[in-house]
Amino acid sequence: MANISAAVEALVPKLIALRRDLHKHPELGFQEVRTAGIVADRLSRLGYAVQTGVGKTGVTGFLAGGKPGKTILLRADMDALPIQEETDVPWRSERPNVMHACGHDTHVAMALTAAEVLAKAAPSLSGNLYFVFQPAEEAASGADAMLKDGVLKSVKPDAAIAIHTLTFWPAGTLAICDGAAMASADKLEITVTGKGGHGASPERAVDPVVAAAHIITALQTLVSREAPPLEAAILSITMLRAGTAFNIIPDTVEMTGTFRCFNPELREQQMASLARTVNGIASALRCTARVTDEFVTPAVLNDPAVTAIARAVASQIVGADKVLAPQPLTGSEDAAFFWQRVPGCYAFLGAAPADGSPGVSVHNARFDIDESALPIGVEFLVQTARTLLQSS
Ligand SMILES: [Zn+2]
Ligand SMILES: [Zn+2]
Repeated sequence: MANISAAVEALVPKLIALRRDLHKHPELGFQEVRTAGIVADRLSRLGYAVQTGVGKTGVTGFLAGGKPGKTILLRADMDALPIQEETDVPWRSERPNVMHACGHDTHVAMALTAAEVLAKAAPSLSGNLYFVFQPAEEAASGADAMLKDGVLKSVKPDAAIAIHTLTFWPAGTLAICDGAAMASADKLEITVTGKGGHGASPERAVDPVVAAAHIITALQTLVSREAPPLEAAILSITMLRAGTAFNIIPDTVEMTGTFRCFNPELREQQMASLARTVNGIASALRCTARVTDEFVTPAVLNDPAVTAIARAVASQIVGADKVLAPQPLTGSEDAAFFWQRVPGCYAFLGAAPADGSPGVSVHNARFDIDESALPIGVEFLVQTARTLLQSS
């Protein structure tokens, strides 16, 4: 059994009711109007200084403790996914083709419950709380929008925490990565241009299809031959567009892909190698190439000191044997933009069925969680924030 404080335990019915209400009414990125309204209303009632419309639909809440001290940022994302829910729970989405299939409903519910517990304790706290409810995480653009609206300009947090509910591990566990927690993401767009012509007269054309095929193959050597073997990196070409008929050599080939890794220096090196490889092969085969690299989000890198505190807190709540130290996830998270600026710990809340049966993954139409995990997430946010405020 997890070690849940009386203050959190008393709010569990309200926590579950809020989570189910949010789950019934999911909203896509930058459309979180109802969700943001609930967040702003609850934070205001609890005494937080609230700002709305931060990065379109984001909300922040600031609360000063009884004595001066550090400021802790607690971040939750609010958006849902364009998925038709296929669960049969009574609180399934009432909105067609929109579903909280990534658990962000639970993140909002847990953060608001933590905000309530911490507000009650505020007179005895040394330091401040800064809640950041972020829109549009799935598009990896909400954090950037909030930063551009000045989120970290008026308030300078000393540490940041966030938690993501996942069904990779059973309810009753917390998973915390040391160092990298999630990968950086680049969106790659490559256009190879040759000279179109008749498929039967290649000597009169410059074939970009053959050049593109060589490029895709050669790009597989970036990770395998140029990255250190013990460094993780992924390069996937995922879309390919070319041609209109069986007897036409097209003018151009377009391809799209993604690059993921955990080391910013390796990313720089690999992106340089990508441009060199694409341009070199295109040139050798008489084509030209254009490479566009959109840096979607950096890696989420957990700060050692903040993470050590979070891990110690997690051990007190669920027991050291239930605090896992997984490999970093190869997915991406734009919380990274906050984590670049504030030393933080991004943790994972196990929420697969506690009986050990496998959970359904996030981003699946049948995604569902074991709600017994949620009080653990709240307790983790509350106690980690409190401990960080007390840390020297
Ligand atoms: Zn997601
Ligand atoms: Zn998510």
